[in-house]
Amino acid sequence: MTQLSSEEDLVVKFWGTRGSLPAPLDSRQVLEKQLALIERIIADGGTDKLFRDGKGVQEYLAGLSLSYSGTYGGETTCIEVQARDSPLIVIDSGSGIRRLGNTLISRLFSGQHLNPLCSDEATARELHLFLTHYHWDHIQGFPFFKPAFVNMSDKRLDITFYGKRDARKTLSGVLHGQQEYPNFPIIWDDVPCTKAYRELGRMNPEDIQLGRTVVKFQELTHPDSVLAYRVDVNGKAIVCATDTEHKDSPDPRLVRLAKGADLLYYDGQFTPEEYRGDVGINRLDWGHSTFEWAIRNALAADVSTVVIGHHSPDKNDFDLDKVYERALDFKDQQLKLVKNDGKSLNVLMAYDGLEQRF
Ligand SMILES: [Zn+2]
Ligand SMILES: [Zn+2]
Repeated sequence: MTQLSSEEDLVVKFWGTRGSLPAPLDSRQVLEKQLALIERIIADGGTDKLFRDGKGVQEYLAGLSLSYSGTYGGETTCIEVQARDSPLIVIDSGSGIRRLGNTLISRLFSGQHLNPLCSDEATARELHLFLTHYHWDHIQGFPFFKPAFVNMSDKRLDITFYGKRDARKTLSGVLHGQQEYPNFPIIWDDVPCTKAYRELGRMNPEDIQLGRTVVKFQELTHPDSVLAYRVDVNGKAIVCATDTEHKDSPDPRLVRLAKGADLLYYDGQFTPEEYRGDVGINRLDWGHSTFEWAIRNALAADVSTVVIGHHSPDKNDFDLDKVYERALDFKDQQLKLVKNDGKSLNVLMAYDGLEQRF
């Protein structure tokens, strides 16, 4: 038995929060951010005033938005879920899973459990990977997930893959297909981790028990459909509802799944103007939603924190900061409505590296 690292029951870390396609910063964008930061420092009084004897730089940057102090990141969807006394859970293997893999290699080779909140040796190398759906941005990182390629018998991972049952293609067929010649040099059957598959039927949403944790799923609206997942442990709960399109009222299926959760991750890829087509082409039926619907759904489900994610690859850090300001204003408006009397809601923008503890 190893000493557990903290007292939390549930830790969620966002390794990839970009929608559709990885979107790294380019040199021009970095320069724009540097210029904006310099202008901001001058406007705030200059370095002599702000950083006396060179001190206070970190504190100053920590008080600024990500336009100035960092970046929202460009990796596609991957969420690590550490639940107390349970094997490690990961939702989606977008490009963000590469960095998670590097962290897991460190845990693996230092003899730790893959989940720092669990000390059960029997599940130390178990990973349960829940795929919301099979669009490329949600599976594309797996071929670059190094822990799956460790072939020493005492360090080999046992991975169980979960995904929707689909009449056109099996779950294992999807993963095989991604690594077929000439797309990738290592075929699926040669990836040395132990693999098991569990297909989830849309009409049969049975709960999945993993250690102390229960995972529930629910089909939502998206082209070719999508599963939202809820992870419950010791009275704490988080819900991932990425890649889903609202209709004209809070989605009753999502409200039911997310009821009372501590955190709801929701697809806010488009602004309302982009969605309707007031700006450029309309995005109706593309399967994505807006910050307004993230907030409406979260309030209807009485969740504590909503995290807006699956950011458009066409939005830079300044655009996303503006979306966040608008989201906070929208939340304030919504809280004034009679139906939301007495409610409160914490609104966060997702970024690569965001971590929340419950
Ligand atoms: Zn997506
Ligand atoms: Zn999708």
